[in-house]
Amino acid sequence: MPDKLYDVAIIGCGPAGLQAAIHAASKKSKVIVFGKARKSGLYKAHIANYCCYEKVVLGKEILEVGRKQAETFDAIFLEEDIVRTRKENDLFSLNTESGENFTSRTLILSMGVARNKLRVKGEKELVGRGVSYCVDCDANFYRGLEVAVVGNESAAATGAMTLLSFAKTVYLICRKLMVTDMLYKDLRSSRVKVIEDTWVKEIIGTNEVEGVFLKNGETVKVDGIFVELGAKGALELAANLGVIFDAESFSFIETNKKQETNIPGLYAAGDISGKPWQIAKAVGEGCVAGINASEYAKKLASS
Ligand SMILES: Cc1cc2nc3c(=O)[nH]c(=O)nc-3n(C[C@H](O)[C@H](O)[C@H](O)COP(=O)(O)OP(=O)(O)OC[C@H]3O[C@@H](n4cnc5c(N)ncnc54)[C@H](O)[C@@H]3O)c2cc1C
Repeated sequence: MPDKLYDVAIIGCGPAGLQAAIHAASKKSKVIVFGKARKSGLYKAHIANYCCYEKVVLGKEILEVGRKQAETFDAIFLEEDIVRTRKENDLFSLNTESGENFTSRTLILSMGVARNKLRVKGEKELVGRGVSYCVDCDANFYRGLEVAVVGNESAAATGAMTLLSFAKTVYLICRKLMVTDMLYKDLRSSRVKVIEDTWVKEIIGTNEVEGVFLKNGETVKVDGIFVELGAKGALELAANLGVIFDAESFSFIETNKKQETNIPGLYAAGDISGKPWQIAKAVGEGCVAGINASEYAKKLASS
């Protein structure tokens, strides 16, 4: 059973949480990490744009190596979700799903974001095999191929425009476009084929995506589909602590360059602190948060 008072507690064991754990634990802070690796955005991803990995690497592999590395510095991992957080005096109190309570001098929030899903037949089955939630991550895999983007808002429209530099044909499937006048004009004068007033009913394919079946009865043959419906962060836990969110979308935690939030001792890193949703950003912010949390905890312990 792990000791219950820590210097640095980290919620989330994706790349941001892992890097934070490595840096904080290597500075001799007592570190505990909560979360389930299989729920990380990275778990099912194939990565081609992360520094030092020349060939495509499985996200799962990065997560496994990162955890082992953090454990060599004595970080402790608990595969449980945190269901409640609060700050009492100078300490953060955390409740796990199985009812245990832990206390920490500092807390790093690295819970990532949950991509909104289409929730149609074929989506879950073909993730990573033609179904993607990230144009920046996967556009490169579709050079010279046919792709569709589904979504109504600016993320979908800009995603479709970005894909024009890679794919042969880009369809944008939407119920109704809700973008700025400028983006609308750019989109309409581009090669993107907009299919409006409909939605995806089913993603077709056995081992990989072969096409999409639309609600208007049309079938569009594509090699990939990008679901760009935005995301929700695991923000309820943060809201409980009185954290300030970004003013524009109210979906990401505001931090400064030290990854500090508005609450002393509370840090945020990775997808949860905004775009781009990329491993490199998550790892960079995790490093900064881990170092600063460790220093903060030391000062608090000696005061
Ligand atoms: C299909 C796909 C492909 C991608 N491809 C690329 C790519 O090619 N290149 C690239 O750079 N990026 C890619 N990404 C993005 C990349 O995976 C993310 O940017 C990265 O994983 C973010 O790291 P994170 O640590 O912030 O969050 P995550 O990796 O999402 O980890 C969050 C962690 O928090 C945990 N958590 C959440 N709530 C709780 C709670 N209440 N209690 C405990 N734990 C909790 C989750 O279980 C999870 O372990 C891809 C993502 C997807 C989905």
